[in-house]
Amino acid sequence: MLIVMHHHASQEQIDQVIAAVEAMGFKAEPIPGSLRTAIGVLGNQGYVDDASIRILPGVRETIHVSKPYKMVSRDFHPASTVVDVAGVRFGDGQKPVVIAGPCSIETEEQMLAAAQQVKSAGAQMLRGGAFKPRTGPHSFQGLGLEGLKYLQQAGKASGLPVVTEVMRIEQLEVICRHADMLQIGARNMQNFDLLKEVGKTGHPVLLKRGMSATIEEFLAAAEYILAEGNEQVVLCERGIRTFEKSTRNTLDLSVVPLIREMSHLPIIVDPSHATGKRALVPVMGKAALIAGAHGLMIEVHPNPAKALCDGAQSLSGADFSALMEEFSGLLKYLGH
Ligand code: PEP
Ligand code: MN
Repeated sequence: MLIVMHHHASQEQIDQVIAAVEAMGFKAEPIPGSLRTAIGVLGNQGYVDDASIRILPGVRETIHVSKPYKMVSRDFHPASTVVDVAGVRFGDGQKPVVIAGPCSIETEEQMLAAAQQVKSAGAQMLRGGAFKPRTGPHSFQGLGLEGLKYLQQAGKASGLPVVTEVMRIEQLEVICRHADMLQIGARNMQNFDLLKEVGKTGHPVLLKRGMSATIEEFLAAAEYILAEGNEQVVLCERGIRTFEKSTRNTLDLSVVPLIREMSHLPIIVDPSHATGKRALVPVMGKAALIAGAHGLMIEVHPNPAKALCDGAQSLSGADFSALMEEFSGLLKYLGH
């Protein structure tokens, strides 16, 4: 970290900052300039909490050189991480993975039908929510444990590994027994206690970007999981909240190449939640693959018109099958 002093800062103020840095256990290196003095902080292993420094008299700003997401960053870990979910691999050098399935698990039949449709279309993983983070309390909240059983059964029947969302720490044990990958939804991206516990399980994690999270916050959230010893984390861009209301969210595709540069973790895109509109899903899915996404998450329902959740953005089995054909041509073109 670099501490930049005001040009009018007195020597006494500079000395006070140096003393404060040393009291934190670091070395302070004053760098006098023609206009102002800067003080370099040396000896820190990671991000330095600068709250007590910024308020000292004479301090103009602090500049962080090391980031709040050291373990997630490529600077610290140059080799790309490959995340293995029961044999399905996400990451550099792997064919992009398509995860598909309904927003929510509704019935045993619906889940089995969805699994069969997405498997025969060529998806490599199955999704379905049992514990749903709905905006309003009167909307369908998911089948809970019963849903997990249907998901596991559909995964076994189709041979596809399954991913489902965990909303609370207490659900972790049972979800780990029923699912191959744990999803942290956008609304929980900064539920730090949950992130830590998910990190302790060692189970592969799909971490979705928070509704209004910056890239730094997104990567810092992943850092919580890695800091507990779990490197098996796939990031997921699912659109962010902006002033635009024509789409459900604004798909921020530029994060794909950016995160590939900044981090060693794989990044996938969810064009379903990003757009909220079925008609936009195919083209934005293709755009995500061109941008370099390591995979896609797409909502597919056997009967979207009757879906209890997110029907407007869900593809039918037939639509999904046609889209997978298009992906296959594109992936060949992209060299996969
Ligand atoms: C989901 O994938 O089911 C979901 C709720 O998505 P998000 O957390 O991105 O809104
Ligand atoms: Mn959904």
